This record gives sequence, C-alpha cells and structure tokens, in this order.
Amino acid sequence: MTDVVEAPAAVKPINHWIGGRPYAGRSGRTGPVFNPAAGEQTGAVDFASVEEVDRAVQAAKQAFPAWRALSLAKRAELFFAIRELFHDKREEIAKILTREHGKVLSDALGEVTRGLEVIEFCCGIPHLLKGGMTEQASTGVDVYSIRQPLGVAAGITPFNFPAMVPMWMWAPALVTGNTFVLKPSEKDPSASVYAAQLLQEAGVPDGVFNVIHGDKVAVDAILEHPDIAAVSFVGSTPIAKYVYETATANGKRCQALGGAKNHMIVLPDADIDMAADAAVSAAYGSAGERCMAVSMVVAVGDVADPLIDAIKQRIPKVKVGDGMNSSSEMGPLITREHRDKVASYIGADDGAKVVVDGRESAPEDGFFLAPTLIDDVKPGMKAYDDEIFGPVLGVTRVASYDDAVSLVNDNPYGNGTAIFTRDGGVARRFQFEAQAGMVGVNVPIPVPVAYYSFGGWKSSLFGDRHLYGPEGIDFYTRTKVVTSRWPDPATSKVDLGFPQTR
Ligand code: NAD
Repeated sequence: MTDVVEAPAAVKPINHWIGGRPYAGRSGRTGPVFNPAAGEQTGAVDFASVEEVDRAVQAAKQAFPAWRALSLAKRAELFFAIRELFHDKREEIAKILTREHGKVLSDALGEVTRGLEVIEFCCGIPHLLKGGMTEQASTGVDVYSIRQPLGVAAGITPFNFPAMVPMWMWAPALVTGNTFVLKPSEKDPSASVYAAQLLQEAGVPDGVFNVIHGDKVAVDAILEHPDIAAVSFVGSTPIAKYVYETATANGKRCQALGGAKNHMIVLPDADIDMAADAAVSAAYGSAGERCMAVSMVVAVGDVADPLIDAIKQRIPKVKVGDGMNSSSEMGPLITREHRDKVASYIGADDGAKVVVDGRESAPEDGFFLAPTLIDDVKPGMKAYDDEIFGPVLGVTRVASYDDAVSLVNDNPYGNGTAIFTRDGGVARRFQFEAQAGMVGVNVPIPVPVAYYSFGGWKSSLFGDRHLYGPEGIDFYTRTKVVTSRWPDPATSKVDLGFPQTR
C-alpha cells in the first residue's frame, strides 16, 4: 500500500441518505467529525429530528412490498453484484475509515474484508431460506414452513467498526427481504453514506436502504416508531440495555450487543513468544478499540514474569502514527475526550504497577496514546472492572487454571475469551466451562466466520439472537406454517369437530 498524502480537509457537511438520495438535515443540529490523527475537525454531520427519522422510515416502508416480492434468484444475483462492487471499492472504504476512525489502513481493509464475508454468506440466500415440507401429514394434507421478512428493520451502530458492523446488519436484513434504516455512529458516519451510494450503484432500489445520522433523538425516534419491526444494536452495555428494553417495550424484535472485558488466559505450558505476540496484537490492534480486544491477560502460575517481559519487549516496536502512513501499526483514539478518559486509568489504582506508560511516547498531535501495560490488576480496581476501550492491557496473576476460569465466569461481561496452552485436555475443559459467547483456543480474537454467528453472553448481549450467520437470518425473518389440501369438492361436508391429524 502506498502512503497517502492529503491536503488539510475543509469541514464538509455529511448528510442523511433517504429514498435513494442525499438529504440535507433541517433540524439545525449537527455534530463534529474529526480526523483523529491530526486532531482536526473535518466534517459536520447532520443530527436528525423525529420528523427526519420518520421520513426515512416512510421511504423504507414504501420500498418494502416490491423489495420483498423480488425473487430469490434476483436477490442473490444482486448480492453477487454488491459483493463485487464493495470488493472493488474496498480501498476507498478503508481510507474513509482511517480518516474518520483513525485505525491504520491495513486494519481498515481487514474490517472491510470481514464485512464482505457476511455479504458472501448472504449470496446463498435461496439455500438459506429453504423451509421444511411434510407431505401427507394427514390424509391428503401437506404442511410446509416458509420464512418471511419482518418489514422495516433498523440498525444502530458503534464508532469502532463503521463499515463492518453495519454490513453485519444490513446484508442479512436486505437479503431476507426487509428494508433498512441505518443510524451509524455520529463520530465516523461517512462510510455508511458511501455504502448507500454503492448499494444504489449495484442496483438496490431507492428506499430499500436509508441512512439517518444523529444522537439520542434519532435513536429514540427509531425505538418508538410504529413502522419499525426490528432493531439491531451494537454499542456500550448501558445503551444496549436501554435500547433492548425500549425497543421490546414498543413491541419490536431486538438484538442489542454491548461492551466487553475479554480475558486471555495463559497457562504455564504455553509458548511464551506466541502468547506475547497474540496479547500485543489483540490488545493494541485498532488502539484497543475493539469489542473483541484482549484487555486482560490472566497469567497462571510462574508464566507471569517471562510473559510480561516478552510483552514489554514487544511494545516499543509497535509503530504508533497516522493510519494513512503505511508504516503505522496503531493509530489514534477516536476523540480527545476518549483518549483522556483512557489515559486516566494509568496509575489510578493503588497496588497496580504501571510497567509501560503510553502517555510518555504518544505522538503529540492528534488523539494518540501509545500501548500501555499494567501489572497486578485485580477485580475491584477501576482498570479491571471497567471496559477501558483503549490501548491499555492489564495483567492479573493467578495461581491455577481454576482461578483463571473463575475470573472469566464471574465477570459481568461474556463477549470473548481465549486460552493459550499446549494441553488439549485443558483447552477442551475451558471450551466446556467458559461463560462467554466466543472462545478462542490459541486464537486471541475469536470472531466467528460468517457462517457461524457473532455474539456474547451476559451483559455483552441483550436478546436471544446473535448477529449474522444462521442466527442473523433467523433474526430478520419470521416463520409461517402452511397446511394445505386439495380434496374432491364432492367429499366436502360440515364437520364441527377439531381437526385431527389422522
Ligand atoms: P455507544 O454505546 O456510545 O454508541 C453506540 C450507538 O448508540 C451510537 O450510534 C450512538 O449514537 C448511540 N447512542 C449513544 N448514546 C446514546 C444514548 N444515550 N441514547 C441512545 N443512543 C445512544 O458505543 P460506542 O462508543 O460508539 O462504541 C463502543 C462500544 O461498543 C464499546 O462498549 C464496545 O465494546 C461496544 N461494541 C460492542 C460490540 C459487540 O459485538 N458486542 C462490537 C463493537 C462495539
């Protein structure tokens, strides 16, 4: 990848996308969008009013009957075209992500690729929607089940995966015949508008996919809108809980994915170098702003000292800088406020030991914090109890495997967890015992492939369907069972008894 040198950008307006065209907001409210590597405002995103949300929902509602009637063969064909176009434009999408989110270009490309995998899964929609059929369930009676779309679905997404998480929602929602209103994060909204343009270019009819920007006003308008049938949410736990409770109280189907505190257990028999490579990659990739980031290493027995040493040796080699620069491995955080909040955890807990202080080597411009390592972090400390969501890795030392598993299972979050060991028996036991939705064995970030589903347990997910894969198809459809017979009218008679299956 070549370095991209850009002139300082003027503050550009970022508009909604409603009914197949940009829609300049009229609420009079906007939010700032930054280039976090420079610390400069580059955009002003419209914040929707309740009326503007309604406008987007009406566009989606109008587009629904024709869209759901499109044959599966045509929808599959369209999804192949969408896949090709997003694949062709993956570098453009990645650059948009790097400019507004800050993650380095190679990481942004990885994000787009993991989104594309879900689109590829959706290309198999004729197979995915196959129902069951029972011939001769009763004499002359056949029974079959079909899956139908819900109507207008909405997605509310976080700042940390501005392309991938929306793709994880809109792809299964659209391919199953729903129309969609997306409310992306107001911090990095441009990738969603670009996705809307690409979907139109691929041939998706106007109104099928809409983007509405904003804050709580827009979210509440979605949660209360009578014409929205389902809401998918990804974000922090308090908002996930609020969204789930409000959406379901308003009669909507809802899946709301929340925050995380992912523990990586390292057993004494693990390969120290491999475990240290994995911990550094999974803790500091995307500046720790991943819901599947490893934020706690649980060092079992005498592995702690050599492991911390190996992590410490690797940290100065992580190249922190502007994500547009191809030599950078870690970019800035999303905003100045978030950077300062993350930095406030360093040195805040009595008893914990700051081994590497990322404030000392962070680039001065922009919202940077370099990789930070804190030893002797324990439950009850702020650095343990909070989801920090930045490049701060904590290490906790425990005596045994059982102590390590208790930490994982006692944690209120249950998104991902991983174990590093050479002992297959213990790994098998961990897979059986760990209370988390996604488990890695010598894999630090176990994000499932697209034909499984993504989601956590406990306070990391409210609702009962995970994202994408079979559960995504399930979430965006409802089943209908048809019982049919074609009797000879001559045999017809009145029979007030309850129908029996004989
Ligand atoms: P956030 O909860 O602040 O925002 C998420 C969405 O909710 C945004 O669209 C935002 O505009 C909206 N929102 C924010 N405050 C709101 C309020 N008071 N009322 C209504 N809506 C509101 O999350 P974020 O900071 O954008 O993203 C980071 C969080 O997302 C982290 O906690 C991270 O773990 C989580 N996350 C979880 C997963 C997962 O799969 N479980 C994936 C990615 C991110």
